[in-house]
Amino acid sequence: MSAVLLTGSTPTRARFSFEVFPARSGAAALALGHAVQHLSAAGPDFISVTYGANGSNRDASLDLLRYLRDHTDALPLAHLTTVGESREALRETIHRVMDAGVHDFLALRGDPPRGLSEDDPRVAGSLSSLELAELIAEARAERPPLTSVGRTAVAAYPNGHPLSRSRAEDIEWLIAKQEAGAQLAITQLFFRAEEYLSFASDARTAGLAIPILPGLMPVSTSAQLRKVAALAGRPAPEGLEEEIEELGGYAPELGVEHTVALARELLAGGAPSIHLYTFNRHEQVLAVLRELALLTPDPVR
Ligand code: FAD
Repeated sequence: MSAVLLTGSTPTRARFSFEVFPARSGAAALALGHAVQHLSAAGPDFISVTYGANGSNRDASLDLLRYLRDHTDALPLAHLTTVGESREALRETIHRVMDAGVHDFLALRGDPPRGLSEDDPRVAGSLSSLELAELIAEARAERPPLTSVGRTAVAAYPNGHPLSRSRAEDIEWLIAKQEAGAQLAITQLFFRAEEYLSFASDARTAGLAIPILPGLMPVSTSAQLRKVAALAGRPAPEGLEEEIEELGGYAPELGVEHTVALARELLAGGAPSIHLYTFNRHEQVLAVLRELALLTPDPVR
């Protein structure tokens, strides 16, 4: 059965979007070019491009955004982070991205660079995502009307930001992001639908009006599963790691199966769409969408 959202009396097909990261080698860039053609052909709402995450080169993010804009039909959305950047440098980067024809942003504080802790003044002293969202809004206001379009997204943490002491604090922080100009939120990874659904419900009750897109990643290996568990701040579903190990440590079909089941519960519970972390591969995320009947036949061969 296809995942259907009920808006008023007209049923609409649930929507989806993707995340990719800049390639770290020429060969990886070729593979990524191929993957984004398939991802774009699926008709996502947008494809987001990470920035500086895990030490990736920041110019490479801009190159990938340009590639998406010039060579695919997908709407590119630029992640931007503040760690280690001055207000002036950020302002310049925002304008460079807009000059490249990209007007949608995910405003983030960013991961601490390798070797630095959260308490390091170079991390703790960085502008917050709220301040970045405000800078983006200011930059939009400075542009001529035709280039001042676009939306600002922010991050949300259904299982709590690592520095948060309570859910109430997480929701207050998310509402402050909305007040700073955010028009949508994308969540950190999580494994259980209830974690997202209860967070979204509590956030609505507290006054959050912007959509929260659940972030999902179909894993292939036990190493990826452990990484997701670390980001989610919760253990992986019982038995999943063992099942992957029994299949030789590489079991993309299990990742697809788990993501499909999770997405079904999320969409049935009212999630507005799903945001798929692709790991720069198209096969698994497209298999998820196919299972959910959200994909018209993949036209790229
Ligand atoms: P902010 O909301 O700006 O928070 C920064 C600081 O504010 C915190 O360190 C803390 O002091 C305080 N704070 C925040 N929330 C709370 C709270 N609930 N309670 C108390 N204090 C709080 N990282 C990258 O480097 N590059 C990327 O491209 C990238 N993409 C991401 C995409 C998504 C969808 C998500 C969810 C995360 C991504 N990250 C990325 C990781 C993200 O940068 C880190 O999780 C970072 O620790 C926090 O960023 P933020 O924008 O949420 O921070």
